Amino acid sequence: MRLKLLHRCRPWALALGLAVLLPAAAQPVAATPNLPALGDASALSLAQERRLGDEIARTLFRSPDYLDDPLLHDYLQAIWQPLLQAAQRRGEVSPELAERFAWELLLSRDRSVNAFALPGGYLGLHLGLLAISTSADEIAAVLAHELAHVSQRHIARLFERRQQQAPWVIGAMILGALAANASRNADVASAAVMGGQAVALQGQLNFSRDMEREADRVGLGIATEAGFDGQGFITLFDKLQAAARLNDGGAFPYLRTHPMTAERSADMQARLHELAPLRQSQSPIPAPVHALMAARARVLSETGSDRLQALAATLRPAAGAPATPALGRTLTPEELGQLYAATLAAARLREPALALLGLRQLQAHEPTDPATQEQLRWLNLELLLLLPPQALPPAQQQALSDLLAAALQSERRAALLLAAQASLQHGAERQRLAIARLQARTSLHPGDALAWQTLAGLHLAQQQPVRAARAEAEARLAQLDAPGALERLRAARQLGQGAAAVDHIEQSIIDARLRHVEERVREQALPIR
Ligand SMILES: [Zn+2]
Repeated sequence: MRLKLLHRCRPWALALGLAVLLPAAAQPVAATPNLPALGDASALSLAQERRLGDEIARTLFRSPDYLDDPLLHDYLQAIWQPLLQAAQRRGEVSPELAERFAWELLLSRDRSVNAFALPGGYLGLHLGLLAISTSADEIAAVLAHELAHVSQRHIARLFERRQQQAPWVIGAMILGALAANASRNADVASAAVMGGQAVALQGQLNFSRDMEREADRVGLGIATEAGFDGQGFITLFDKLQAAARLNDGGAFPYLRTHPMTAERSADMQARLHELAPLRQSQSPIPAPVHALMAARARVLSETGSDRLQALAATLRPAAGAPATPALGRTLTPEELGQLYAATLAAARLREPALALLGLRQLQAHEPTDPATQEQLRWLNLELLLLLPPQALPPAQQQALSDLLAAALQSERRAALLLAAQASLQHGAERQRLAIARLQARTSLHPGDALAWQTLAGLHLAQQQPVRAARAEAEARLAQLDAPGALERLRAARQLGQGAAAVDHIEQSIIDARLRHVEERVREQALPIR
């Protein structure tokens, strides 16, 4: 299942996302009207569900649409982690479930509006959803809803209800659908989508209502407990309904034929009314920061240069539009977002003068909240990364160099990763510092694939191919690709033994990792029972 497959069903619906992958022969069973009786989750053990999730996640990590953007990653974690903690405080996520599942967000470049839960605690989110959202509360609503699907074991219940297939058969079917899409073979992929739609349409009315309602109810509790405004559910539902009206037969075929969003919206209005005295008034994420990140999602989901040109055009005087708001007054979050999108689009188009113009306008706005200031510093850094150093005027070069030095010392993942990538163009001394900082990070977070990958690039720049190959192996392992990791580790060992001066410490690390990874390869090859 390439992520795109899912948006054809309905926005952020777990049930359909998964139903797409169930066999066409499985007949839907009539829904039980009582909320507590949604089915028996014992059909799939926690370990089985996690294995299934790992299989799917491994394939999604390899998809060209998979995106680890350090800034969006940090932003989403600032929403996701409080939700996860709130779910644990409320007892929705038991200590065992917290321990056994992955609880990992996978971001896709896809422009369609979608989010979904996968087996084993993996969640998928499309840039398109982030791009249309107008507050962090809306993103919190989406993620809390999906989190509730996971915590309520809806996937296991769905399996129990739909058929009696062994988990490994389901795993094979999911992987088959994934492979069909990953191959980008148009015929196979569209056949999978067509088949999936048929199954989804067949099953949707029966199984999704109760589960959706439960996910809304539980999700609202989690989101408000985490400090987000429950109104995010309402405003997002309104958007989805509007999109359904506008996209007649387009990206929302499910919503077009289905009145559930109106029901869900009314349902949530009633619940919010009850919650009113308890509601938080202040979102944990400042509105300008959300506006910048939604703008970022808009730019990163664009692939065509014509669309990027259109976004950057607001910075061009020739456009004739009142693009640059008068300085000396506070910009609205929306204006900030537009300016940010134009600046980032110009940078992606490799137009340094235009990008720097946008950056100067953003900086002239002098935001007062520290979180927005920090985002602008990161954008500044990013321009350094995207533009060749010689393209920058000397004053900018010095400013950016200082920024780079500060970011390399930052505790923020996004700042460190951007600075480490930028240091590839900024001399051996910076690179050595970046390597030391990344080594510290990966020892604390061995699952950070992008940190490992960045480390590999720096080791190569430093003429250390053995260490580069080992870091690449760790990056693959972090994305659950044990065979790929094994292959890189074997290459690292060979390179090391052929080196003029054999590094015995590095060799013994590689040997230990080889044994570990060989075990992982064997585990991954076992069928899910
Ligand atoms: Zn749902």
